[in-house]
Amino acid sequence: MHSIINITMNENLQIRTFKKTGHIEVICGSMFSGKTEELIRRIRRAEIAKQRVKVFKPKIDTRYSEFEIVSHNEQSYPSEVVNDADEILEKSFDVEVIGIDEAQFFENNLIKVVQDLADSGRRVIVAGLDQDYRAMPFEPIPQLLAIAEYISKTLAVCVICGAPANRTQRNTQSSEQILIGEKNHYEARCRLHHVVSIESKKDNLILNK
Ligand code: ADP
Ligand code: MG
Repeated sequence: MHSIINITMNENLQIRTFKKTGHIEVICGSMFSGKTEELIRRIRRAEIAKQRVKVFKPKIDTRYSEFEIVSHNEQSYPSEVVNDADEILEKSFDVEVIGIDEAQFFENNLIKVVQDLADSGRRVIVAGLDQDYRAMPFEPIPQLLAIAEYISKTLAVCVICGAPANRTQRNTQSSEQILIGEKNHYEARCRLHHVVSIESKKDNLILNK
């Protein structure tokens, strides 16, 4: 058991600080690359080590279940849906290991929340897409990569050629960055077989200005 003190993060919120150093781990890659599978594996090991764990996911993503994170090979682990990143801080008062899935769907304040949790002695494991369907960096993951102690890039298998794939092909006409979907809309592709429509490339240029 670690010694603990309570500190105030802001006027409303108290958080417990563990007297040991925390850290941030990021698991990122394309869809179907095994991010959720790897997050579940790490969380289960923390549980075996008798650490207090909690897993969160954003409200936007309840594709399979409201109460669990679920991987494409049907592994699952209980999770809480949160409306925004601040709610993770509020609900992690007594937690030693925090898992966050689908982190790309949070706003950029996730960065401060994750940083505060790690600063207060927690192990924070964040999983999410590092690139969108145009292979553009998908915030806030790139900034999380910069501040993380540990980074794992997971690779899927390209559905065209079988090569390692780090891109997500969108097979539906939509230029929104976020379009919730599964194999109905997306597949894993390698760099050679990843195709972005001219319209989406135009959006890239606008986004990059
Ligand atoms: P992610 O969270 O990165 O989307 P998951 O952890 O949910 O990935 O799922 C990984 C699993 O997806 C693999 O173990 C495999 O069973 C399945 N899968 C389906 N399509 C592919 C693919 N093209 N490449 C790799 N794994 C795939
Ligand atoms: Mg996943």
